[in-house]
Amino acid sequence: MSDAYDLVVIGTGPGGYVCAIKASQLGLKTAVVEKLPNHGGTCVNVGCIPSKALLHATEMFAEAGSSFADLGIEVGTPKVDLKKMLAHKTKTVEQNVKGLDFLFKKNKIDVFRGIGRLAGAGKVIVTADDGKEQTVAAKNVVIATGSDIAGIPGVEVAFDEKVIVSSTGALDLEKVPERLVVVGGGVIGLELGSVWSRLGAKVTVVEYLDSILGGMDGEISKQFQRLLARQGFEFKLGARVTNVAKTKKGAAVTFEPAKGGDAETIEADVVLVATGRKPYTEGLGLEEAGVELDDRGRIKTDGHLRTNVEGVYAIGDVIAGPMLAHKAEDEGVAVAEIIAGQAGHVNYDVIPSVVYTSPEVASVGKTEEELKKAGVEYRVGKFPFSANGRARSMLQTDGLVKILADKTTDRVLGVHIHGFGAGEMIHEAAVLMEFGGSAEDLARTCHAHPTMSEAVKEAALAAFFKPIHS
Ligand code: FAD
Ligand code: NAD
Repeated sequence: MSDAYDLVVIGTGPGGYVCAIKASQLGLKTAVVEKLPNHGGTCVNVGCIPSKALLHATEMFAEAGSSFADLGIEVGTPKVDLKKMLAHKTKTVEQNVKGLDFLFKKNKIDVFRGIGRLAGAGKVIVTADDGKEQTVAAKNVVIATGSDIAGIPGVEVAFDEKVIVSSTGALDLEKVPERLVVVGGGVIGLELGSVWSRLGAKVTVVEYLDSILGGMDGEISKQFQRLLARQGFEFKLGARVTNVAKTKKGAAVTFEPAKGGDAETIEADVVLVATGRKPYTEGLGLEEAGVELDDRGRIKTDGHLRTNVEGVYAIGDVIAGPMLAHKAEDEGVAVAEIIAGQAGHVNYDVIPSVVYTSPEVASVGKTEEELKKAGVEYRVGKFPFSANGRARSMLQTDGLVKILADKTTDRVLGVHIHGFGAGEMIHEAAVLMEFGGSAEDLARTCHAHPTMSEAVKEAALAAFFKPIHS
């Protein structure tokens, strides 16, 4: 058995690798355990990074085929070289993986390859691919094993990653399907649906709820759905999928109205099932170690990311909270600080979320529906990009900024942006909210002209008094 590490992190997704780097920076002797050949977890290998590479490439393709001509650029009809586009995605992933190998070396973090399992106080057993076991001694263990596709509860789905695919298969289709049916109108369905829609697939989204992106501000969600419909998406809302089956020609998806009624079946060349993800705890030996799970299979943690077992912590998708890479990263930093004796902390009220469609949807803080439910009195300030000069100059006038501020104190409680570059603009709202700022604070902050961000300032002006430009 090795000399005891101060910290062993199981899993090197964004939660685990960030935690290990931070711990090493704080002087802790640190090792990681990863079962896959590549570090980076879901996010780097089959999630955030490859999906954004394809979203960017296909957005450029769509632009070249539509708005270029309006800008006076003649390029003829753009053609897709799908192999090359997928190669761009693969190369982007490889660059990120290499970057992580470099960061582990730079920070003197030891890497153990294999499946990590808790084996009593202060011990992790690592089982390599060839079955050989190694025991690693650890004063502290952080579990960062992430999540896996959830499938459809109560429905057997035979994923072959060619015709019936999860998000992983949808990142690698060999040809553009004529008809793509997406089960689940959440983030994955709409992002990867956009990728293939832009390349020519007829996309139909079948969603259980009455709206897409459940949990998103209702007004933004409706507007977003209208824009996606304009891009060619078809929506079957309030529809529960009860069967996904392969056929001779492709696949068939059967759904029934969520509130009762006759079932309907639609044909597809490819079906993407994107109905959420579940925590991944397989092979960790949690039961033997006595680590408690909640009713949804997530590892239970307290406000300091501690499990019920002394010296064992958990972060990221495997615990409660939004399944987002930056949430996992922030927890990774916080838990490293806590183990090093510092005051690590994550502010769960200010975690931005971005949907990388065209245009993007970004939000931070409360939705209008949440404020109403909590009985909070609020004021709303809105500003459409159609009234923003920079947006007009870029032909990016779709969407709006919506700011929700406390009626009495003017403190900003939620910001929702639907528009080009929303995923970058949202961060000024996040910083403001982190410091407890008001709509007036935001409105009185000088914003460079002409920028899309001026729409954020105008929405803030609208929330506390009146906008200038609308
Ligand atoms: P993971 O990234 O899942 O990493 C867990 C790691 O643990 C893996 O490497 C796994 O191999 C390893 N592991 C598991 N068990 C063991 C074991 N017993 N021993 C050793 N190793 C083990 N989030 C965003 O914020 N932005 C996005 O744009 C975004 N896009 C996404 C797109 C897709 C298609 C998907 C599927 C997800 C996306 N996400 C996005 C979500 C994001 O990927 C996750 O929230 C994030 O990866 C969670 O990080 P994690 O470190 O908790 O776990
Ligand atoms: P999701 O929870 O966002 O959406 C799943 C959708 O499937 C829900 O709207 C749900 O109502 C619907 N659904 C479930 N069962 C159904 C059924 N039988 N019939 C019809 N609809 C059904 O999950 P996802 O899109 O799979 O994404 C998983 C996770 O990955 C999310 O938590 C998300 O945070 C993360 N992610 C984030 C990003 C990003 O930040 N840009 C991108 C991709 C994924």
